Amino acid sequence: QILFALVIIALVFNVFVRARVSARRIEEVLNVQADGTEELAADPAPLSFRGRIDFEQVSFAYDGTLALDNISLTCLPGETVGIIGPTGAGKSTLVQLIPRLYEPAAGTVKLDGLDIHRLNPRLLRDRIAFVPQKALLFSGTILDNIRWGKEGATSAEIETAARMAQAHDFVMDFPEGYETRIGQGGVNLSGGQKQRLAIARALVRKPAILILDDATSAVDVATEARIRQALAAYAAGLTCFIIAQRISSIMTADKIAVLDEGKLVGLGQHEKLLASCAVYREICQSQLGGC
Ligand code: ADP
Repeated sequence: QILFALVIIALVFNVFVRARVSARRIEEVLNVQADGTEELAADPAPLSFRGRIDFEQVSFAYDGTLALDNISLTCLPGETVGIIGPTGAGKSTLVQLIPRLYEPAAGTVKLDGLDIHRLNPRLLRDRIAFVPQKALLFSGTILDNIRWGKEGATSAEIETAARMAQAHDFVMDFPEGYETRIGQGGVNLSGGQKQRLAIARALVRKPAILILDDATSAVDVATEARIRQALAAYAAGLTCFIIAQRISSIMTADKIAVLDEGKLVGLGQHEKLLASCAVYREICQSQLGGC
């Protein structure tokens, strides 16, 4: 029994450490200022990204265990790609290759036709916003938490981002509005409200590429649909990668990528996948009772 307890403690600790590591890495992506010493030998990133992403025969392994197996996938500028599949399928790993949190073991990831390996990571990350499932909000005002996405963002920019993320109305319901303190000694936010602030923080960066890694899991379906509408209306034509557990979150995406055990087992729109992809059909049947 003691041995069993020790194994459990070791597993929990392992998950905890991994969660901390990935949160820190993602923080690094969001906070460009922290990044000044990165390789500078690379080509300068194009001044304005169009936002096309190509994964070309990409494979990746963690300590010898294959997590992505020969994935090829294109996302055109302004398109939304939904990514779905069972836990452990490789969804998070795939999107973490875009800001170069990890490097592929084989194959290439391209931005606007250029191998991202040749781009300056700081400039690359400057135009990418990444929202993890567990947002790292800090004790401080709502304003500061959103502004953390872009130093010097004006109040108007912050409000625009918050409106798109469907956060403005609940923020204004607090007597102190954007000056409301959250965290220790402040108000408690629901999981869905925290996720909406994290999305606002990402949007204030005015990214060319937005990655939502299960970032609306605690947001109700109707509010999530409004966020999607706001993203679709985004002036610059945002390229989006949306990882989700709920079919309804990605059903209307331009393309849906279905991952299973590191492999791309389906690619296309909802109707096509229903007809052609067993994994997709199964997820759909379990959630929507048969689509
Ligand atoms: P998903 O997002 O679809 O749930 P992930 O990309 O998180 O899948 O994980 C894919 C595989 O890689 C899983 O088997 C997972 O256990 C493993 N994995 C993910 N992150 C790490 C890591 N930091 N170290 C070792 N293995 C990892």
